[in-house]
This record gives sequence, structure tokens and C-alpha cells, in this order.
Amino acid sequence: MSSTLQERIAEVSRRIERACVKGGRDTRDVKIIAVTKYVSLETTSAVLASGLRDIGENRWQNAESKWEALGSQGIWHFIGHLQTNKVKDIIGKFQYIHSLDRLSLARELHRKAEVAGLDVNVLLQVNISGEETKFGLNPDGVPDFLQEISKFDRLKVIGLMTMAPHEEDPEFTRPVFRGLRELRDKLNGLGLTAEPMTELSMGMSNDFEVAIEEGATWVRLGTVLVGHEEES
Ligand SMILES: *Cc1c(COP(=O)(O)O)cnc(C)c1O
Repeated sequence: MSSTLQERIAEVSRRIERACVKGGRDTRDVKIIAVTKYVSLETTSAVLASGLRDIGENRWQNAESKWEALGSQGIWHFIGHLQTNKVKDIIGKFQYIHSLDRLSLARELHRKAEVAGLDVNVLLQVNISGEETKFGLNPDGVPDFLQEISKFDRLKVIGLMTMAPHEEDPEFTRPVFRGLRELRDKLNGLGLTAEPMTELSMGMSNDFEVAIEEGATWVRLGTVLVGHEEES
């Protein structure tokens, strides 16, 4: 990529501002997670030095060396599919888990958090688009799921996350993002969580502006923001 990190951050910030104007959103309600899964420790360090604080990784295997070096400097978000046997590696290291999608994972997160004496912030991953290749809870099953996990009092359910299908025209992703917002509002109306859910983690490089117009509070940006480096 020819532009510098600073230039890309500035350009993304301008685009976020424009989307906020269009969607009637307050820019302070939209936070950037810099997804560093495609980039090196050096680039991740530069991202933190540039003032971005929230770092997203989708596999512990990729994140480990970065976390060991930079863990205390950022706020770490686990955004990928989480295997139950990997919970022990990430508990206490990632402040937010965006991919809670099944009961066995909730049980293990609660158990490990209990042992560590911690609370864990979680978002439920919901498969709004219904694509078979996507992880996530079926939207209709979320009320029952929330009821089942309410006994796991170490888990603080703060919001919902989804991934939209890749579309050439991001406009086509709008119903997915709108669906997640409407689901959150409906669930809050049912009062199934200790506190109303505030967060919507949705929107990636290709579609973040549409996601913001539809209510995203966290956009997860890799390629457009921090770049995509070749494997070395
Ligand atoms: C990789 C990834 C992203 C960022 O992808 P880009 O298209 O590069 O912005 C966002 N969310 C999740 C869950 C990811 O795995």
C-alpha cells in the first residue's frame, strides 16, 4: 500500500465522519477496532503509537507474539471463532470477546473467568444473513440463549456482533446491519440481560459506512486501515 498509516487513519476518520452525518450518528459513539491479523508486530506497534487503542485479532496463534509485546498498551478484542480449548489462552488478555455463539463456549468462558476472578465482556455473534458458511446464533434462538447463559454471572453481555456477506456493492449489506440493530432493540425490550445491550460490532473494510449508518458502535477495520502484509 502506497499511503502511510497516518494517511489511512485520517482518510478512514473522514469517511466515518461522513457516514455519521448521513446516518445522524454522533462520531463519539463509533469506535474503531484496528484488526491486526494480517500485519506484523512492528505495524501493530505503529498502530498503537498512532493513538488507536483497540486491537482486534481473530486467532490466538496469530495474536500471541503481539500480545506478549504490546498487551498492556492496548485494549484487545477477540473477534474470530473461538474454540473452547483456546479459552484458557485468552482469558484475562482480551477485554472483549465478540464471538460468543454457543452454550459450551459460554460455560467455559464463565468457568475460566470464575477461576481467574474476572468478569468478561462478551458480544453474541449472530448470523443475520443466514449464510451456512457463517458462524453465529440463529436470530430466533437468541432470547433462549440469553436466558440459558444468565446463570453465568461472570459474563457481561454488552452487545451483538455480525459479519455481512461480501458484496461488490456494500449497499446490499444494509438489511444485515439493520437486522442486527433491530434484534438488539427487541432484546433490550425483553430485558433478558442485566443491563441493556449498547454495542453493535459490525462493519469491515468493505462495508463500514453502511454499518455506521445502521448503528454500528464498533467497526472492525483491517485492510483499509492497517493494511494487509504478505506472509514473511
Ligand atoms: C479479518 C476480520 C475483520 C477485518 O477485515 P477487513 O476486511 O480486512 O477489514 C473484521 N472482522 C473479523 C471477524 C475478521 O476476521
